[in-house]
Formats: sequence, structure tokens, C-alpha cells
Amino acid sequence: GDLFGAQRRNSEGLNLSDPEKLQQLQQELAAMTDQTWQAAPLIAGQQIRGEPHPAYSPHDRHSLVGEVVFSSANDIDQALQQTNCAFNDWRLCPVATRAGYLQKTADLLEQQRLELVVLCIREGGRTVRDALAEVREAVDLCRYYSACAVEQFAQPLRLPGPTGEDNQLFQLGRGVFVCISPWNFPLAIFIGQIAAALVAGNTVIAKPALQTSLTAMACLRLLHKAGVPEQVLQFLPGDGVEIGRQLLSDERVAGVAFTGSFTTAQLINRQLANRHAAMATLIAETGGQNVMIADSSAHQEQLVTDALYSAFNSAGQRCSALRVLFLPTETADSVIARLIGAMRLLRIGSPMDIDTDIGPIIDRRALATLYNHIEKLQREAKLLYQLPVPDELANGCFFPPTLAEIPALSFLDHEVFGPILHIVRYQANELTKVVDAINASGYGLTLGIHSRINANMRYIQQHARVGNIYINRNMIGAVVGVQPFGGMGLSGTGPKAGGPHYLQLFANEQTVTTNL
Ligand code: GLU
Repeated sequence: GDLFGAQRRNSEGLNLSDPEKLQQLQQELAAMTDQTWQAAPLIAGQQIRGEPHPAYSPHDRHSLVGEVVFSSANDIDQALQQTNCAFNDWRLCPVATRAGYLQKTADLLEQQRLELVVLCIREGGRTVRDALAEVREAVDLCRYYSACAVEQFAQPLRLPGPTGEDNQLFQLGRGVFVCISPWNFPLAIFIGQIAAALVAGNTVIAKPALQTSLTAMACLRLLHKAGVPEQVLQFLPGDGVEIGRQLLSDERVAGVAFTGSFTTAQLINRQLANRHAAMATLIAETGGQNVMIADSSAHQEQLVTDALYSAFNSAGQRCSALRVLFLPTETADSVIARLIGAMRLLRIGSPMDIDTDIGPIIDRRALATLYNHIEKLQREAKLLYQLPVPDELANGCFFPPTLAEIPALSFLDHEVFGPILHIVRYQANELTKVVDAINASGYGLTLGIHSRINANMRYIQQHARVGNIYINRNMIGAVVGVQPFGGMGLSGTGPKAGGPHYLQLFANEQTVTTNL
């Protein structure tokens, strides 16, 4: 295998700087504005009927995207039973066969790109560029985990021993894995968790985020179409709290892969620990209080471009997004003026429009949380600038991208999941205190550094306990196999998604010693 070498290629996606391709895409998107989709529990390949709940676009509350049937207690039980029964056969299915299903899924994802992009845009509020990037990431994850499995799991590791003894180490699936995914990457994170769990030899129950059930269902169908047996992979859309309560208290669950908030991860951890068979594996990837530190040697134009992109791309709805920019007192005012100048040029708009930089917030509830935070900023800190939302967007969940100044990182008592960039000023000779504050937050996901001073870069890199550090560039959009993604502390358990060790926790190890 050549997992780490130059031979591995990520998906090429679509080149939007080619005017012909761009025009074709725009026509295709326009033709799909009225299509609707359905999601429902899928148990042993059967789509369950039930009461449909309508799903509307975050950018336009009148635009129906489809209907979702929620999972019942019986569906959940059936899903557990099916995946539990199917486990033994699946565990023994050759790794190459399982990996082949992922390869095929990757091909199907590329073939179905347009429909998936439209779903991400219309249901998830992703911009066109984000949606295209997400299909690529989904494709990359399938191919990467498939390659990891072939390289790491297909052959047992031969271990040394005394003469006359043969020792081998096998990697085997753990059992039923529950995959719980977020709405902010409805394709890539959804399929990444499932692909890893399946190829490592687990059977899977997929619980998608309620807000993006339709995208998840379309994606799940491709896995089955690629050959993943119906009993091996079940789909349970619906309310997370209700489904979680029943699913996670069940002794048949051997592991959980979760991406979402720290609070939910903690709840899952407690539920799993309360079972009699308490030893389930939890792989959690949660949020962050992500910081970018600029020192006075930073190239200001580059800093402004990278800070705004990191904070406002995907309307700040990435767990990797920049939340707090630390500026040295000498240059803070000039950087802030540049930030405001550049913010004025950003376009808030419908995600269907190719020129949109900042699309909608996922739903009303998330919007209300952001407005509460703005009130706190008004009361206890300082708003520096808000980019107004154009009137014609009144039918959607749009939020004005905001720049604010706060006294310290500890001012933020929760993860602010939206387009709000906070500034903290620091004294140039107190860089160590900035790093202490990051570590004291308990989170440790992404960190940006803008500096030309080696000693500063080195100090920050060595002392900050975070998972992904980006120096003199933006700090989002980790690429599969290039920047394996995931944090430390409150930000997650590891191993890193899109990295060479991700599959390890999805498997049990077994040694076989034979006396020859
Ligand atoms: N991997 C994404 C990035 O690097 C973030 C994933 C997330 O938001 O959960 O931007």
C-alpha cells in the first residue's frame, strides 16, 4: 500500500474557475429547486412508513425539501436485532470485500454529486462551494479508510516468538457500532463514521442529525447500492434524545462514534457507562474555543483574509472555526480596521447563489442562541461591527456576521456556533499567558498562528494542547490524509478522522499463538 506516499490522490471535484463547468452547474442547480426527498427508518432494507414531518430550507422557510419519518421504539429494537445478528458474518467477510464496497460507494458519490450537492445546499444551508468540497471529502474518506483497512487489517501481523511457536495479531470488528453525526457536515462526517466502522468489521446503526436526515438517507442508499448488505447497516432518523435513550442503554451496542457538542458527548458517555456491560468504546469529536494568535510580525493582509475565512466560512458552523483572535496591543487597532473593511465586502445570501460567501444558520433555535450571545456582548463587552443581513433574506435563518471585542477568552462560557469573531488584546510580552488561557479553556481543537518570529511559533506550538495547528494560513478545511482532524481534552477522544490511525479504535485485537 502507499497510504502515506505521493501515489494517493484525493478526489478532484469540480473546477469552478472553468466558466463552462460553472454554467452547467448553475443550470443543473436551477433545475432542482423544486425537487423533494424522503427519509424514513431503513430496517433490513425496508423503508418504514409513518407520520411524515416536513423539512424546509434554512434559507427559505417556504421551500419544502422533503419529509422525514421518525424512528419508533420498535424500529430501534429491530435495528439492534438485525445488526447484532449480522455481526458474525460481517466480521468474517474478507477485508478486501468490505473495502471494495467503500471504493464502489466513493464512485457512486462522484456519480451522484449533483443531487448530493443540492441536498446539502437546500437542506443543510451549505454554500455551493462548501457542498462541492463536502462531496469530495466524503469520497476521500471512503477511499482512505478502504486503503487503511487493506493495509492494516487484511493480513495479521506476524509477531516473534520462540522456535516452534507461531504468533499472529488480528484486528476484528467490535460488534454493533452506533454512528451519530452532526448537521454541519451532513455528508462527509455522516459517511466517514459509517465507512470506518463498516470496513473495520462492525455492523452499523446510523443516527443522522435530524436537520439533515434527507441528505443522510440519499447517502446511505449509495452504501447499500454499492453492496453493503441490508442487515449490516440500519438507518434511524428522528429525535436524538429519544433515540439515544433507548439505543445507548442497550447492551448490544459495542461502540459509538459521535461528532457534535461536548454536552451531548458527555451525555452519551454517561448513558453508556450506566449499562451493566459498560465497556463500550466511545469515539467523540466535539467542539472548541478555537483561537488564532497574531503577533506584531504578522503579515496583516494575510492575517485578515485568513481570520475572516476561518471565522465566517460555513457561517461559522464548523467545529474548527475561529472564535477568538488574539491581537497584540501595538497592531490591534490597525488590524481591526482592516477586518471591518474586509467584512463589508462579504456577501450574505442564498446558498443556491454561487457568489454567496455566508449562507444561513441551520435553524431558528440556533439563531436564537446566537442572538442571546449578542445581547451578552452588548451588555458586558463591545460590538465592533455587524454586517447587515439584506432585507430580501427575511424568509430565512440569517444572522449578521459580527466582530466583537471581549476582555478575555474565559468570557466565552460556551461554544458560539456561528459567524461571530471575538477579539482579545494582549501585551506582546505576555504571549505565554495567551497559551495558558487556551489550555485553561479545556478545549483543544484547532489553533491558528500568524507570525514571522520562529521563537514565538515554536513556543505556541510546543505548549498549546490542541489537535490541529495551522501557521500563517487559515485554520479550517482539514484535508483527508493531509491534516487528520480532531482535538484533545473537551474537544474529543481521538483518533483523528481522515488519519492513518482512525480505524484502530473501531477494532478489537486478537492474538493467536500456535504451537507448531
Ligand atoms: N473537518 C472540518 C474542518 O477542518 C471541521 C469538521 C467539523 O466542523 O466537525 O473544517
